[in-house]
This record gives sequence, structure tokens and C-alpha cells, in this order.
Amino acid sequence: MAADGADANAGESVDEAARADGGGDALLAVEGLTTVFHTDKETIRAVDDVTFSVEEGETLGIVGESGSGKSVTARSILGLIDSPGVIESGSIRFRGDELTGDNWDAHRGDISIVFQDPSNSLNPVYTVGNQIRETLRIHQGLRGQEAREEAVRLLESVGIPDARRRVTEYPHQFSGGMRQRAVIAVALACDPDLLVCDEPTTALDVTIQAQILELLDDLQEREDLAIVFITHDMGVIEETADRVNVMYAGEMVESAPVGELFDRPQHPYTRGLLASIPGRTVSGDRLPTIGGEVPTPTAEATDCRFADRCPEAFDACERVHPEPVRVGPDHTAACLLHEEGYDHDLDSEARPAGEPPDGDAVADGGDRA
Ligand code: ADP
Ligand code: MG
Repeated sequence: MAADGADANAGESVDEAARADGGGDALLAVEGLTTVFHTDKETIRAVDDVTFSVEEGETLGIVGESGSGKSVTARSILGLIDSPGVIESGSIRFRGDELTGDNWDAHRGDISIVFQDPSNSLNPVYTVGNQIRETLRIHQGLRGQEAREEAVRLLESVGIPDARRRVTEYPHQFSGGMRQRAVIAVALACDPDLLVCDEPTTALDVTIQAQILELLDDLQEREDLAIVFITHDMGVIEETADRVNVMYAGEMVESAPVGELFDRPQHPYTRGLLASIPGRTVSGDRLPTIGGEVPTPTAEATDCRFADRCPEAFDACERVHPEPVRVGPDHTAACLLHEEGYDHDLDSEARPAGEPPDGDAVADGGDRA
């Protein structure tokens, strides 16, 4: 990352070390992304200063409750933010190329997206084969017999039986699960390096969901795809992700490799999400469920946006906005529990094992208790 020079935010509290893992040659590097919607009434900060990267071939999970900014993050990456929305600041680089400032066309097709509801993603008046061939034509320049054969191959590759016949059928002739497979086939027809899946299995029943997750896993290996997998479901995250970003009210409040996040969650919100997985208890089990809902951020945060739902909140959480700090190797959390100088009774299990309280990355933030 240091080589890149685009991030001259000297003295930033987020540890350079955690970011440095891939910023330089990451497939996708998102930095300080802020996407807002200027509505008649107010400005909604749907994504607020979010930084992460995706490496070649990895699956990055993004998890958070409804309204936390996951889809807007996805659409921002794809250049799909329309008025009244705008990317207000930040950088999105694909293989080092800056995409913001309307430079998506250069990488159109390198990044592909699969949305939640397969019915809305396919056009009902064209055959499935037609839609795959159209994408093949636009993105790979394939036509005629070559395109027809490739469409059949793609349908086969997403596990649709009898693909040669089904390629001539219309979306309504497919079941929900088969339709989502077809949508994935269309997404793959761009020959992408990065597939963004925004709740791709949420509309499907559990059995079909498991099959689609398996398919994505499979495709990732076969096609050497990187995947950004978005879901509100921690159970799905556990099965799919290599790393996880936890989002809350537009912000990334925790980020860690999946095993680390599940074993040692450091943000109370993450602990709440984990406790909401059926049959799972979290150490200390202080958060059986989280009451309330995600607030809609309309101004720059001057507090912790989770404070009023947080069972561990203390005075300063209402006055100081927590910046992400390093809480373990390759692990960050934005919570004052992990910042020095605040008066709270942090129990030892919330600290990274064997590490002293982390003082190397404290936000300069404001008055002290
Ligand atoms: P998630 O996908 O995590 O459920 P979203 O990314 O869809 O959440 O939304 C994040 C926030 O952005 C929400 O408060 C939502 O109301 C707001 N938002 C999303 N799209 C628009 C839009 N087109 N106009 C205004 N606000 C929007
Ligand atoms: Mg969404």
C-alpha cells in the first residue's frame, strides 16, 4: 500500500499494518469509500469511510443487518450508484486502476454482480440462452455457433442438467434455484475476475441455498474467482468467507479472517450477530439478541452509532466516534473498548490473548472521560 501514494492520510488511526496486507497489489482496494444519498429531506450517509481490500481468489464476506450499507457498498464497487446517490469521497481501485470518477467502463465485465432475487435479474421475455449470449457478445465478442456452445457450457458449469435443451427456455420455466444458477451463468459470461454476490441465497429455501453456496465455492476454485459475498446471515458467512467485514450503519466496525472473527469477536455488535446464530453461544453470552434496529446515518458520526444498542456502552461512547484500531494480527475493530484512555471495565477476555492493551493506533478523538 505504501507504494501507492494515494493515501496520504498521515497519522491515520487505522493501523497501516492491517491495511498493508494487500492494498498495493490487491485485486480490489477500497479506501475511505463514502457514498451518500441526497434526498429531499436529508443526506443519508449509506456508506461512510469504508476501507478494505479483496485479494485474488479469496472470498470476502460482508455481513450486517438490513440497512447497514452492504448493498450500497456492492453497487458502489460496480459503479451502479445513481442519483440521488453519489460517491462523495474515497477510492476504489481494481488491479491498481482507479474506478471512481467514472472510469468503470475500462473494467466493465471484470467485476460482475449477482443480486438477491433471480426473478428480477433475468428478462422474462428472452430465453435464458439469449441473455447469456448477449452478455457473451458484449463482453467477450462471441457470436453465432461459438456463443451458442459457450452458453450451453456455462449453463452446464453452473450445474443445470440438460443444458442444451434448457438454454432455449424462458426464465419462468426455471425453478427459483435453477434461475439463480442461470443468473450466475450470465454473470460468468463476462468472464469476471471478481464476482460480487449480494444476498444471492436469501430468497431461496435452505436446501437450495446450500447448493448455491457449494456451486460458488466450486466456481471459485475452477475459475479462480475472487468473491465478495454479502449476507445478513452469520451462518452463511461461516461457510463461505475467508475474511469478514462487519458493517453497521454505513461503517465497517470489525474486520478479521473468518476463524479469528468467530473465535475472538472484538466488537459488541459482532458478538451480538454471532449470538443470533441459532444454537450458538458466545463467550460471556452477554448479548443473546440485539434489540432495536440500525439507525440511518444522516451526519458525520460524533459518537458510536451502535452505542444506544450496545450492552457494553459507557459514557464516552456517546461523545467519541471510534476509529478502527488493530486488535490482533490482521484484525481491526472500531470500538472504544479497544482504545486507550477511556474509563470502562473491560474484562480480560475481550482483549487479544497475550497482547497488551493496544495503544499503537488510538484515534486522537476528543475529550476524555
Ligand atoms: P443493506 O444492503 O445493508 O441492507 P443498503 O446498502 O441497501 O443496506 O442501505 C444502506 C442505507 O442506504 C439505508 O439507510 C438505505 O435506506 C439507504 N439507501 C439505499 N439506497 C438508497 C436510495 N436509492 N435512496 C436513498 N437512500 C438509500
Ligand atoms: Mg442489501
